[in-house]
Amino acid sequence: MPDSTSNDSSYQDSSSSHEWPTPFMQVSRQTVITMGFHALHEIGSNSICNVCIANGGSCCQGCRHLVKGIGCQKRNTSCTAWLCGFLKFFLYETGLLREWNDFWEQVPGQDYREDFTPEVFYVTKSLHLPDLRNLSEALATDLHELAKSHNVIGFILTLREKSINR
Ligand code: SF4
Ligand code: SF4
Repeated sequence: MPDSTSNDSSYQDSSSSHEWPTPFMQVSRQTVITMGFHALHEIGSNSICNVCIANGGSCCQGCRHLVKGIGCQKRNTSCTAWLCGFLKFFLYETGLLREWNDFWEQVPGQDYREDFTPEVFYVTKSLHLPDLRNLSEALATDLHELAKSHNVIGFILTLREKSINR
């Protein structure tokens, strides 16, 4: 989900701490969304999204919950958990894909562009992704250069879909 098109007030909300010392932790739907956004922010997904969006590849395109100039009006667990080819590739190459998947597998009710996730449920695993903003910026720069050197409509999008098979 593109960070950069959002007007994400939830980002500053409830989960003041991401330390979960107990094996079974009750969490709210909103908290896991916030944690997902925080994790994406830490890895610097917005740098990659900016290149993707500039090349016409926003994954929010055509969604009825997207308001032009404002962003998503229906934040949900499903879109937060979903990874496009670029982000999946990035997490795979940095050894973080399993942690990401393990966390989101605990979250029930994910659907396409919406969720039926209960307001409160239990999890056993937390989500801690390191600060990789420099690395994602470097990847974004490479993608930008690739897009410029392959002046073919949809080149970046094709690359993104290829990356999903990692
Ligand atoms: S498809 Fe991926 S890179 Fe593109 S905007 Fe969505 S999450 Fe970001
Ligand atoms: S609900 Fe729609 S606008 Fe919101 S993040 Fe998902 S795809 Fe994007």
